[in-house]
Amino acid sequence: MPREDYIATIGLEVHVQLKTNSKMFCGCPVKFGEPPNTLTCPTCLGLPGALPVLNAGAIEKTILVGQMLGCETPEVVKWDRKNYFYPDMPKNYQISQFDLPLCLGGGVPLYELAYPKDFQKDIVNPGKSVELTRIHLEEDVAKSTHHDDFTTIDFNRAGTPLMEIVSEPDIDSPEEAVAYLNSLRQILVYSGVSDADMEKGQMRCDVNVSVRKKDTDELGTKIELKNLNSVSTVRRSLHYEIGRQIDELDSGNAIVQATWRWNDDTEQTQIMRVKENADDYRYFPDPDLLPVKTGDFIARVQTDLPELPHEKVARFESDYQITHYDASVLASDGALAEFYETAATGAKSPKKVANWVINNLLGELKEREIEVSDCPIAPEKIGGLSDLVEAGTISNNQAKEVFAALFEKPDANPAAIAKEMGFEPADSSEVDTFIDQAIAANPGPAGEVAEGNDRAANFLTGQVMKLSRGKANPKQVTEAILAKLRG
Ligand code: ZN
Ligand code: MN
Repeated sequence: MPREDYIATIGLEVHVQLKTNSKMFCGCPVKFGEPPNTLTCPTCLGLPGALPVLNAGAIEKTILVGQMLGCETPEVVKWDRKNYFYPDMPKNYQISQFDLPLCLGGGVPLYELAYPKDFQKDIVNPGKSVELTRIHLEEDVAKSTHHDDFTTIDFNRAGTPLMEIVSEPDIDSPEEAVAYLNSLRQILVYSGVSDADMEKGQMRCDVNVSVRKKDTDELGTKIELKNLNSVSTVRRSLHYEIGRQIDELDSGNAIVQATWRWNDDTEQTQIMRVKENADDYRYFPDPDLLPVKTGDFIARVQTDLPELPHEKVARFESDYQITHYDASVLASDGALAEFYETAATGAKSPKKVANWVINNLLGELKEREIEVSDCPIAPEKIGGLSDLVEAGTISNNQAKEVFAALFEKPDANPAAIAKEMGFEPADSSEVDTFIDQAIAANPGPAGEVAEGNDRAANFLTGQVMKLSRGKANPKQVTEAILAKLRG
């Protein structure tokens, strides 16, 4: 566990698979789950003499992310060879970007709901944005699968576009690292750039972490943790590694710069290799690829820049008069935000619609394991259901029954279902009679209402609801009682 007298400094390198139709430097399709080695050509197999051709769509998607995160894009970017040998990369170099990447600087805003649930109540740096160093574009390598005494390689993944997002060492705790990853994912999914699912390997994370005494300015020696495959692994491995480094320093040992890995079985980090320097990769410009002018790409993405999640939260708060919390929940997912907006547009009370979506719909969908994007009930029907309650046609409890029935008959109209269930508004003269009966039967509470006691009015309303068998509209009943007793 982190200790008061030590400061942890964390930086993240995140690789993200871009949602493009074809690979980065050839026309092979980008698809997953196909039979091994069926989506290949001489270029992505790294055969001698095969030439790369740039994928403009991948460049545009990366610049789009950069523009959303406030990055600078150099006027001209170029491609470099990162030289190393590994069986899943037969060219012996990866085409990447060294000194002129597509994006420089910028930052990722951390969202409250992106922190671990048990940490959201005491966020140390509210409103923080984690500074980025750069975002560059490169090609993915093939996928090796290790069997007992041999290894197989599938080149379907080789050459697919990968965006690498490098943060500054600007993250202070494992929980902030979690918030960073979740916020980043939310933005990437929002903009349609990637599905960024860590469990599917669409987003892969390396972590740099060091600790130092609180009274020193110089950063400690950093350890790199490779290939963390889930957000919870990032959190657990960072807690473990920070504790380990503090123990080493406390015992008078030095930290040696190295690459470590997380072992999920032992719940410990273990050393892989002593870290090579960047120079070991002998980067040099790829002679097969021309530098790229970025002006036209920037102009194109700027015409239609997606709203960032926190911008959507602010707009929901002001357009629909809902709370910051409700807006954050609704904006946390692009499909959910769209569902809510469609449901709320034209509804009598967008605030009540937000309640329906958050308190009723989300729970029901979760229970049935349905994604919001596959919700069988059209958003307009949730707006219509809320309107029935607002108009006093049905009570809130009746609306819940109509809501349940809607799941069985998603094509039906909420008003028609209500009618079918016999939920018609009570006859108003009948309700008036019930009110008079309730007042006559309860002279004590009635007197208190006259003297200004609102709780007594609620009691009388409850009596009228009973007499009407739940058909009366409680809001209208209370108003009528107050009108009668307070004049
Ligand atoms: Zn290919
Ligand atoms: Mn990389």
